[in-house]
Amino acid sequence: MPLDILTVPCLSDNYAYVVKGPDGVCLIDAPEAGPIIDALEEKGWNPGVLMLTHHHHDHVGGVAELREKYGLKVMGPKAEEAKLPPLDLALEEGTNGGEGEGYTVPLSVPGHTLGHMAFHFPNGGAVFTADSLMALGCGRVFEGTMEMMHNSLQKLAALPPETVVYSGHEYTSANARFALTVDPDNEALQARAKEVAEARAANQPTAQVKLSVELATNPFLRCADPSIRAHLGMEGAKDAEIFAELRRRKDAF
Ligand code: ZN
Ligand code: FE
Repeated sequence: MPLDILTVPCLSDNYAYVVKGPDGVCLIDAPEAGPIIDALEEKGWNPGVLMLTHHHHDHVGGVAELREKYGLKVMGPKAEEAKLPPLDLALEEGTNGGEGEGYTVPLSVPGHTLGHMAFHFPNGGAVFTADSLMALGCGRVFEGTMEMMHNSLQKLAALPPETVVYSGHEYTSANARFALTVDPDNEALQARAKEVAEARAANQPTAQVKLSVELATNPFLRCADPSIRAHLGMEGAKDAEIFAELRRRKDAF
């Protein structure tokens, strides 16, 4: 049975996800409770677990209300436990759980925050990345170093390419505009930017995408690409230096 995944728009541009596997229903992040409850009620699903990616308010604002309503187990990164709502289980790498397609592997992907985790479902072919790897972009580096964030993205880039990446915000249009400034000759990127514009015009979400597509189009995963390096005038730089320059440019974009 494949995972049944609901994408739930929350707040102005956040996404929560509802994941139904053979072992039950879990939620990934809780920006606000209302839209998540609506999505669950429409399906008649009862969540048992809520997994949090990081401590930022726009990912945890609905936790108390959801816990109260469903009595679910709240899990999140141990490294951010002091900044998170009370956890029933503090997660580290190796705290794997669930069964079958619902088997979940927490990955440490620091940079945006120091304890940020992504949740990989290797048997379900999905990874929930929130504000680490984002469609055509990545999160801002608030707490960690550029090198740390680069390493985190490389870790995600090494997952099986058919994995579907589910990220935390609908930022893809702006990310596409930036990506075209540093990788303008990339035909896969040009085509994707068009698709994203069409999808957004129809109010469809675009922050859920195959990793293979990201590898071909997301400049933050393409630090080794000769054309991007030439555009930056940094042919001889290390990959992490390219990443840092891309992130600095995006911050000022
Ligand atoms: Zn965040
Ligand atoms: Fe966020």
